Amino acid sequence: MKLINHLEKARKEGWALGQFNFSTVEQMKGIVRAAAHCDVPVILGTSTGESKFLGLKEAVALRDVMREIYPYIYLNLDHGKDLNYIRKAIDVGYDMIHFDGSELPLEENIEKTKKVIDMAKGKIVFEGEIGKVGGSSNFHEGRPESKEDLTSVETLVKFISETQVDLCAFSIGNVHGVYSEMPNLDFKRLEEIREAVSLGLVMHGGSGISEEDIRKSIENGVVKVNVNTELRKVWREEIERSFANNKNEATPYILLSSVSEVIFRKTKEKINIFYENNTG
Ligand SMILES: [Zn+2]
Repeated sequence: MKLINHLEKARKEGWALGQFNFSTVEQMKGIVRAAAHCDVPVILGTSTGESKFLGLKEAVALRDVMREIYPYIYLNLDHGKDLNYIRKAIDVGYDMIHFDGSELPLEENIEKTKKVIDMAKGKIVFEGEIGKVGGSSNFHEGRPESKEDLTSVETLVKFISETQVDLCAFSIGNVHGVYSEMPNLDFKRLEEIREAVSLGLVMHGGSGISEEDIRKSIENGVVKVNVNTELRKVWREEIERSFANNKNEATPYILLSSVSEVIFRKTKEKINIFYENNTG
């Protein structure tokens, strides 16, 4: 099945695909093992930084190898901003592009999003973004910043009808990263958005959001939830634990042997929430 068909099925049945970001092989193995174990399609995300560290071609080659283990593995360039870099990702075989023009004035965001879609219209999946999702995929103290960048329904409708994106990321107070206090999501706004548009919505910043709020978002049209920081957190904790317990060890495959397992467990935990209504 193609990615777009999985997304349509998710919208009809009321569940969401997880996007799990990675930049190393052991992280990727953990994610793919969880997908295979639960028998659900997943999206592997690489931001510009993650894909530059790993290599665009390397990411595609790894996806291809992993598809021999489980076929429904898709690769997305997360928060792509540079049109030349996006072109490269499409040329080497990414399944999906998220163009993030959310910081641009609306007209410029529309114009650039259209340019990106024209690079491979109908061949791969395109996600646009309206409304700024703040923060970064890091750990933060305290509360996320103000809600001034919430997605306006009118703007979203205009953006979607003019660009014809397949998916759209929005902001209802969700932010990237994990905060010591949960963000306060504006579900009234999400309901208004859902009533006004008929395409699948994407929730960024899935790491710092409670299970209950994730379920509520999926009920309101979210078909893709992005998770990065929570995976980074368990990755780091496991490496620290392993290095501390093996002070005289320098063999990577010994020091990193348990990393895949913690990524597997965390991914599985998220899958259990996101795919609850998946009929298989
Ligand atoms: Zn994001």
